[in-house]
Amino acid sequence: MSSPLQPLGESTSLRTQLCGGLRAEHIGNTVTVCGWIARRREHGEHLAFLDVRDFSGVVQCVVDNETDVRSEWVVQITGRVQARPDGTVNTNLATGEVELADCKVVVLNSAEAPPFPIDARADDVDENVRLKYRYLDIRRERMQRNLRIRAKVNSAIRRAMESQSFVEVETPFLMPSTPEGAREFLVPSRKEPGSFYALPQSPQLWKQLLMVAGIDRYYQIARCLRDEDLRADRQYEFMQLDAEMSFVTKDDVLGAISEAVMAAAEAVLGERPPQIEQITWLDAMNRFGLDKPDMRFGMELIELTSVFAGTEFKAFAQAESIKGLRVDAAKYPDAASFGRNKLDALTDRAKQIGAKGLVWMKVGEGLVLDSPVAKFLSDEERTSLVVAMGAQPGDLLLLVADSWSTTCEVLGTLRNDIGRPPVHEGPYRYVWVIDFPLFVGINATTGKPQPGHHPFCQPHPEDIERLESDPMSVRALAYDLVLNGWELGSGSIRIHEPEMQRRVFRQLGISDEEADRRFGFFLQPFKYGAPPHGGFAFGTDRLVAILAGEENIREVIAFPKTQSGSDPMTNAPTTVNPAQLAELGIRLLPPPAKS
Ligand code: ASP
Repeated sequence: MSSPLQPLGESTSLRTQLCGGLRAEHIGNTVTVCGWIARRREHGEHLAFLDVRDFSGVVQCVVDNETDVRSEWVVQITGRVQARPDGTVNTNLATGEVELADCKVVVLNSAEAPPFPIDARADDVDENVRLKYRYLDIRRERMQRNLRIRAKVNSAIRRAMESQSFVEVETPFLMPSTPEGAREFLVPSRKEPGSFYALPQSPQLWKQLLMVAGIDRYYQIARCLRDEDLRADRQYEFMQLDAEMSFVTKDDVLGAISEAVMAAAEAVLGERPPQIEQITWLDAMNRFGLDKPDMRFGMELIELTSVFAGTEFKAFAQAESIKGLRVDAAKYPDAASFGRNKLDALTDRAKQIGAKGLVWMKVGEGLVLDSPVAKFLSDEERTSLVVAMGAQPGDLLLLVADSWSTTCEVLGTLRNDIGRPPVHEGPYRYVWVIDFPLFVGINATTGKPQPGHHPFCQPHPEDIERLESDPMSVRALAYDLVLNGWELGSGSIRIHEPEMQRRVFRQLGISDEEADRRFGFFLQPFKYGAPPHGGFAFGTDRLVAILAGEENIREVIAFPKTQSGSDPMTNAPTTVNPAQLAELGIRLLPPPAKS
């Protein structure tokens, strides 16, 4: 009779121990490890050293040099743990005090020579090659570590959500197109040629319906898909902790999500971050110029509009807003010595972002301002400027005069360009940005306001009366979570009354009829008693990347796409067979001419 099946520890039927777990306390034991040959070194006439690697680390095995094994062959080695001889202990290696001797080597599989070394040297290999052989890349310590950190984060998040009584519910992948804002991936329907499903840009629709359905607290670590240009912090498909709660206010939602974020950070870093601070969107813009403020460093923007209230300098007199940035010579000594080329580059950058120009001033001894525009300012203006900016000799001052939003955006971006440390460098500064505007900017095609976040956010109760008369001034009960200048996620209290939803749709240029036609499936359920509710979603890829000390989310995703959206390993996206297209009722146009 076979023995009852057992839950699995580290050992399996083929091994007793993990390579990386062997220590001095095991000396004298005979153990069996399994793994890949990381390195082979000949030693004297008869012996060879094999470094055998599994996910946990490497162990040195002393074998007869007749043993025929090469790099990346898969082996099972049984040997006696012994202390390494004096003088050969490797303090850089966790197993560096011991080695396996009297080894019996069983070759489980041979291997071709890998296209790059399976160690840190592969960090410098072209990313396309790493992704083409991702299964080899993942064998490396860095990727093993990152994927395990990722699993830890997911597990901590699940525990945190479950301990707060959230219920995990899975939601569909094939769904109708929704008005959330991102470009969607479409999937043609075979049964109804000409009709399409959309892949979820988020489970927004479903989670709100789950609140109507009385689930009370929903969560899911959900895959979301958006057909948008890829960057260091963006992939077509990405994971979010997605949550929704009924009968709540903002603070309930932020509290629940903070708990998940803190638990994740604690699981990776071993300590709980301090309480997450809050800043209003307006303050974030005025102080840091951007709605994703990186608060690890100062260099806050300085409001100068009143300093130049009566100015005769034309470029300043006509501007709605004037702001400045002081590049402190004590902290950024090279900014003080910026030559013409660097100043021109800063000016070009400012123009690229939308400014008409950038005024620079170097502060000399005696606080004299050296700048092409200094002569257009009165003595009093120059003095007030120096005082307002707290300028010191050696500082560089950068000024932008423009619309309020342009001054914010331009100086906020320059602030980051000049002072921002890499995203993954501590300290970790989490911040909730609250009270986002309900609408941002005007859609060029419709001429109507665009949703600041998505069209389901509840207008701020203090501003609702201006929804029709001055929509751009209305705040939403919407908030973002930002970590070191990266937006981790967003959420809001939702509209739960059908009439309020229609009022917001109308502002977006969506008539009642169009709303019924396009989103009736969503509006209809709200007639049947929707509770007040709110929720949030944050990107776990971004959180994991920062916690793992990586600057690019591709380093923490097992099989990411390249920046151009392809997968060098599988060659996706690929063409398909004409018969498949015919079945879907699709005929292809000639490819667009390459510009
Ligand atoms: N669905 C939103 C998003 O993915 C998050 C939310 O509002 O809950 O950005």
